[in-house]
Amino acid sequence: MRVVYTPAHLGHDITHETVMGVQIPANEVAERAERIRSVLEADGGFPFELPADHGEAPILAVHEPGLLRFLAEAYAQMRAEGVMRPAVIAEAFNVRALTEGMPAPAERPGAISGRTGFWALDTSTPIVAGSYTAARAAVDVALSAADLVLSGERAVYGLCRPPGHHAARSMYGGYCFFNNAAIAAESIVRETGESVAILDVDYHHGNGTEQIFWRRGDVLYASIHADPARQYPYYLGWADETGEGSGAGANLNIPMPAGTTTEQYLAAVDRALDAISATTGSVIVVSLGFDTYGHDPIGDFALTTDVYHEVGRRVAALGRRLVILQEGGYHRPSLGANARAWLRGAEGRSYDPVPAAGFTAGGATG
Ligand SMILES: [Zn+2]
Repeated sequence: MRVVYTPAHLGHDITHETVMGVQIPANEVAERAERIRSVLEADGGFPFELPADHGEAPILAVHEPGLLRFLAEAYAQMRAEGVMRPAVIAEAFNVRALTEGMPAPAERPGAISGRTGFWALDTSTPIVAGSYTAARAAVDVALSAADLVLSGERAVYGLCRPPGHHAARSMYGGYCFFNNAAIAAESIVRETGESVAILDVDYHHGNGTEQIFWRRGDVLYASIHADPARQYPYYLGWADETGEGSGAGANLNIPMPAGTTTEQYLAAVDRALDAISATTGSVIVVSLGFDTYGHDPIGDFALTTDVYHEVGRRVAALGRRLVILQEGGYHRPSLGANARAWLRGAEGRSYDPVPAAGFTAGGATG
């Protein structure tokens, strides 16, 4: 299976994130993608290639121009204001209650500490000097993977970093800046005139993807994720969110309990695949996360590496072409093996697990 990857992600070299007011070591670090790259390269069955530059147009088909402008300017503006913090993080947020009963505020030129909160969901998504370039490159990875599939490949893996599925039309957050999967899905719809299904198997609900396609009947969004009653993104991901207008019925949320087992998980996968098989269209965009893994430091499911091989196999068994895009997954030692298992399953190759000693991630200590 061909893999699209770029070292541009290394510029998003964050070290800390802020959670409930406390700085903790960052989860969404560069080592994640390098671990996956290393294990896939060692496998020998995954040729790597660089993405092509697709420009701003496919991003603006999905995101508000102001969000792109803000992300492009944020770090430089902070420095120009003489703020020497290591990363841009919001101070005040544009919450609904701020203007309840009044017209919603427009973004205006202003101090970076406030401007950030206009576009941010949370404080856990720092912007450093290389974040914008990395986020743009992740979009190009997704779009290049989609191009390869539209030109005849049956399945292609885009090793996107930073991830994307929490980014909404006018909002970044949850480690995500641009919604790679939504941008790829939208470009496939425009290119083919077909409908597209997005299968989101990250541990978290892809609130951004749901929001972007909420009123769209030509993009099915099906997500299996931790119940928002206990997990980020909290406000979306509930089972009764099914879409509106022409998108009514085109959003399927399957919230799962803590400790979700292989059997429970595979039953949910089958349910999502049933919904996808009822749609037309020949391409599935997969938002692939491994924070469903039993040892993930953020997640609380109980999945093991062999399950990823089986999920990949079942998804591929639908017979549709696959644009497989990396989202989350934070247990670094297992990421490569989990990605390899999933992708080998999707390609009809055997599981053939590698021992943990086979990991050779550059600069990684475990
Ligand atoms: Zn996640």
